[in-house]
Amino acid sequence: MRTVAVVGASLAGLYAARALRAQGYDGRLVIVGEEPHRPYDRPPLSKGFLTGATGEAELALADPQEEAELAAEWLLGVRARALDARGRTLLLDDGRRVVTDGLVVATGARARPLPGAEGLGGVHTLRTLDDARALRDALGGPARRVVVIGAGFIGAETAASCAVLGHEVTVVEAARLPLVPQLGAEMAEFCAGLHRRGGVRLLTGVRVAALHGRAAVTAVELADGRVLPADLVLAGIGAVPNDGRPAGSALPVADGVVCDDGCVTALPQVVAVGDVARVGGVRSEHWTAATEQPAVAVRNLLAGRTVAHVPRAPYFWSDQYGARIQFVGRRHDGDTLRLVEGSLEEGSFLCHYEHAGVTTAVLAVDRPRAFLPARRALDRAGAQLLGGPR
Ligand SMILES: Cc1cc2nc3c(=O)[nH]c(=O)nc-3n(C[C@H](O)[C@H](O)[C@H](O)COP(=O)(O)OP(=O)(O)OC[C@H]3O[C@@H](n4cnc5c(N)ncnc54)[C@H](O)[C@@H]3O)c2cc1C
Repeated sequence: MRTVAVVGASLAGLYAARALRAQGYDGRLVIVGEEPHRPYDRPPLSKGFLTGATGEAELALADPQEEAELAAEWLLGVRARALDARGRTLLLDDGRRVVTDGLVVATGARARPLPGAEGLGGVHTLRTLDDARALRDALGGPARRVVVIGAGFIGAETAASCAVLGHEVTVVEAARLPLVPQLGAEMAEFCAGLHRRGGVRLLTGVRVAALHGRAAVTAVELADGRVLPADLVLAGIGAVPNDGRPAGSALPVADGVVCDDGCVTALPQVVAVGDVARVGGVRSEHWTAATEQPAVAVRNLLAGRTVAHVPRAPYFWSDQYGARIQFVGRRHDGDTLRLVEGSLEEGSFLCHYEHAGVTTAVLAVDRPRAFLPARRALDRAGAQLLGGPR
């Protein structure tokens, strides 16, 4: 291959570029990124970056020396708009074309917009550094009434950060409990308790009916008629994969770019990684998948066919209200939960999810030392234990 293009200059794109060089690819490497920024880390954006504990310089994913060693052409602040049917020519928004022999799609996801919020000031989403800067600036003044819509990871982490900053925070969640799909009902109950422990009001089982305000939001109206006064709203209602162009023109897309379990798409010279990739039927929106998939994808790209598979059990972490939540594996509805260490009362524990007598997932809250061997054991047990819903 003489030219490989990576579309998406963020976590998975950077790891793909690193993997290409590490695996001996010495041809032309072009990295196209819609954001104007060099690759930066997103997890701190809802945590230390908002509270001020993490500075902007600490977000950088690569230092100038490493970037120089990658010997890549960085085309930043420009979107890849289309890919020809053969998957060989990328058309960029500014009219440039990149002719490639291989393509890594690493376009990630974007925050799902809140319906009815168009043009209304004070309503934020959180996906990019620019979003986080705007949110941090808005939270910088005196205590304000913050309404967070959605108690998923982004919502919960942002609510916790707002509470640390001294704001009055209410979280509104449409489901009966937060994070049920990820953790199951029992552990979701525990997470609901974290909000309360952190001094945040959690309203569950209720939808948002309308936002009030002329130029800027003043209140959030709920479907049950309650009206929550609000100076600032954060919509944390999920992410949408950026699976349109350039991938959509030639590649099957179904809530993500469809690939096999080696990240290879319908075209052998196109692989997809990170939040945009539906790998072996599963799309992950977690940091670790975005860092582990690229080495496998690149191996297959350079081989011209699938010779390697994404092997490890899915893993994610979240920091909420001072608690570190770590989860590995796949849970199933009806799993038996077995507490292995600690207790829910003390807020620090390790628990196994068992399906047909076999441990298929492990959750730890503030037990990082115990979690590590449990994660390794699950990885060793192999993917055959891990088929099933996430
Ligand atoms: C606030 C926040 C907190 C998080 N916290 C955690 C956490 O605690 N734990 C965890 O496991 N995960 C966390 N995550 C998830 C993690 O950050 C993502 O899984 C990871 O960023 C995915 O990386 P990616 O490179 O696939 O996609 P992204 O990081 O979304 O990057 C994709 C890049 O591609 C660019 N792009 C899109 N379309 C185009 C195009 N057509 N042309 C050119 N460029 C394009 C985008 O602008 C973007 O820069 C968090 C995410 C956010 C937003």
